[in-house]
Amino acid sequence: SGQSNLKNNERSVAAFARAKQVMPGGVNSPVRAFKSVGLNPVYMDRGEGSRIYDIDGNGYIDYVASWGPLIMGHAHPEVIDAIKRTAEKGTSFGAPTELETAMAELVIERVPSVEIVRMVNSGTEATMSALRLARGYTKRSKILKFEGSYHGHADSLLIKAGSGVATLGLPDSPGVPEHVASNTITVPYNDLESVELAFEKFGEEIACVIVEPVAGNMGVVPPLPGFLQGLRDITAQYGSVLIFDEVMTGFRVGYSCAQGLYGIAPDLTCFGKVIGGGLPVGAYGGKRELMELIAPSGPIYQAGTLSGNPLAMAAGYTTLKLLTPETYEQLERQAVRLQLGFEANARKHGIASTINRVGSMVCPFFTDTFVINYETAKTSDLERFKAYFAAMLDLGVSIAPSQFEGMFVSAVHTNEDIDATIEAHDRALARL
Ligand code: PMP
Repeated sequence: SGQSNLKNNERSVAAFARAKQVMPGGVNSPVRAFKSVGLNPVYMDRGEGSRIYDIDGNGYIDYVASWGPLIMGHAHPEVIDAIKRTAEKGTSFGAPTELETAMAELVIERVPSVEIVRMVNSGTEATMSALRLARGYTKRSKILKFEGSYHGHADSLLIKAGSGVATLGLPDSPGVPEHVASNTITVPYNDLESVELAFEKFGEEIACVIVEPVAGNMGVVPPLPGFLQGLRDITAQYGSVLIFDEVMTGFRVGYSCAQGLYGIAPDLTCFGKVIGGGLPVGAYGGKRELMELIAPSGPIYQAGTLSGNPLAMAAGYTTLKLLTPETYEQLERQAVRLQLGFEANARKHGIASTINRVGSMVCPFFTDTFVINYETAKTSDLERFKAYFAAMLDLGVSIAPSQFEGMFVSAVHTNEDIDATIEAHDRALARL
């Protein structure tokens, strides 16, 4: 693809050319290729705190945070130390370790709806396994998800999905069999009436509702008042399982995740990102009655050679331990500072802007429409986003290369970082 705006990106250009010979699109996950913004991807060399540095030597204030996990910033000394100390004793055993139990205890202590929990290696594995469990438990086949939500790339969930799927305009993926797709019902986010209609029609066949309690893959879209409670009520009424996909929101928007923030207890919760502190971890957990159907305590199969991996557990456990209630107050303060600065800039430049924010998840949409679902998120000016993204990169701020992703403020973003970001935003808007 095209040239980056960066003055100096020779090494990244060469690295991408080389990678394209040996990996599909040159990458191991689609959005990294910067295809939708028409730029050469930036190859990273290292990160430290709020900053990342590319292989050409350019530095950036980072709000991608590895797509969410790095809530304590890059290469946090305590996290790195825990990984090192653990690695010295061996990287994997395929036998249980006490670290796994400590991790499970910590998750259970923080998230009251989770009575027992199983560790996996990614968010995709967590949601895929939770679906199987919901289907096995209810002996029903259909699932209900929301348009523009992304729950990883399991077949059943790749229907009208958000995130990279939305960014690349691939709403339904080839390779998902029709008989699988036909069991996935999709309705607009925040639209309880459509959920009710779906249940009136298919209620006895719906195994579960899976929802991002704050949608983070169509930009950031908070649940409207009553939406999550409505899902809780209707799933209870029909004997359907309510799954909160907290892969993004878990330990990101609050000490007890989004469910703590909104006071709703789902039957099952999926985790990822923050729970792994930058290493590959996912988890799913919830009611004992359901979770004990998982092998070996029950008949529903799910396994993993590297599940509960010591290095991953060490990184995740240390990260969770660093996250105190005060951390979330700090995150809130910094994110509010960023939001207010961006809002003032948009007014100053007369640019249509709606900024959605929940805790440290922040999303400036280029629209003046109230963004409550994927339809309204799509009213954003995507051409303008492209120019904005290139300008921010050039000005030394790293954000996700898509209007349908939020920014992640981390606990190590200082006032100076936030103010420098607001200034870059001001200058970027001036260029549009
Ligand atoms: N669920 C949600 C809400 C996510 O945001 C993501 C990843 N962005 C996933 C599931 C999939 O997680 P992973 O990429 O670790 O498979």
